[in-house]
Amino acid sequence: MDIKKLQKLFKDQPKYRLEQTQKSLFQGLINNWQEAMGLPLNLRKELEEKFPIEISGRTFISKDKNTIKALIDLEDGSAVEAVLMRHKDTRNTVCVSSQVGCPMACSFCATGRMGFKRNLEVWEILEQILFFARYLKKINEKITNVVFMGMGEPFMNYQNVMAAIKILNDKNGFNLGARHISVSTVGVVEGIERFANEELQINLAISLHAPDNKTRSEIMPANRNYPIEKILKAVDEYVKKTNRRVMFEYLMLKGVNDSDEHAKALIKLMKKPLYFVNLIAYNPTGIYNPSPASRIKKFKEILESAGITVTQRREFGQDIEGACGQLATLPR
Ligand code: SAH
Repeated sequence: MDIKKLQKLFKDQPKYRLEQTQKSLFQGLINNWQEAMGLPLNLRKELEEKFPIEISGRTFISKDKNTIKALIDLEDGSAVEAVLMRHKDTRNTVCVSSQVGCPMACSFCATGRMGFKRNLEVWEILEQILFFARYLKKINEKITNVVFMGMGEPFMNYQNVMAAIKILNDKNGFNLGARHISVSTVGVVEGIERFANEELQINLAISLHAPDNKTRSEIMPANRNYPIEKILKAVDEYVKKTNRRVMFEYLMLKGVNDSDEHAKALIKLMKKPLYFVNLIAYNPTGIYNPSPASRIKKFKEILESAGITVTQRREFGQDIEGACGQLATLPR
């Protein structure tokens, strides 16, 4: 499903035809071109041949039915996972992958441990979203939020991720508001700098997970290239330019980064306007132990007593290996 190819196909046609076609695809959510009733039959035939839009994927549904994971097959035999989270309050959030595997090698993350295969193309990012948009259409619901928190490091595939976001946001594309889109990064400094200059109101999240370089480098090898002070400098610049809030994700690993001292060190970094911390319970990947709920509560209280805004991430889909850090499409 190559968007550029689609655009080329329409270069000799009136402009409204491409718009109409894109709208059937991204808003009509047709499953195949035969369903695009507004298009002439010969065009539908041509599209069917040159630009197939069927998506091959399998779904896994959690016991509580709130999480659906899709394993989507790609043309080269690789596969990626995307996850739909159905919140009680009518939000439907899709978590998408930006790469097959991931080069960042974080020790707590299953994707990091499967290694890196390749970047995803723009349409391979979009088809994950289309897959769930079609799925939800059957029950008269819609995707309300998209987060780039699946497999891979989005800022290591910057161009394709941004191109996909533009189509998500476009009024002839998915028409999803920028404020409903979030990108999470391990802290790729060049990426944060570029992101600050995009004239879009997309949300930025940083996977911090430790308040000092020693601890962070132990669990996140990327910290050697992108240490905390460099990341925060780029984030401050981003905040200055955009005046937008930034979420700092903090994974709670028992005995690794969850002590009172870690909390106090974190306060020093986070005491800035528009910063907030999102505490994440560790989803098992076979290496660490999760911090007990009582420890997370205490850690949160220490931060809050210093005036830091703290939110806690709700858990989704552990039983289908669809939770944060559990996505992997190669044997471990
Ligand atoms: N590479 C990007 C995008 C991945 S987002 C990034 O690092 O931000 C996935 C989020 O889940 C990140 O914050 C990641 O650090 C976190 N995560 C990874 N493994 C996890 C695990 N086992 N349990 C809970 N969260 C995890």
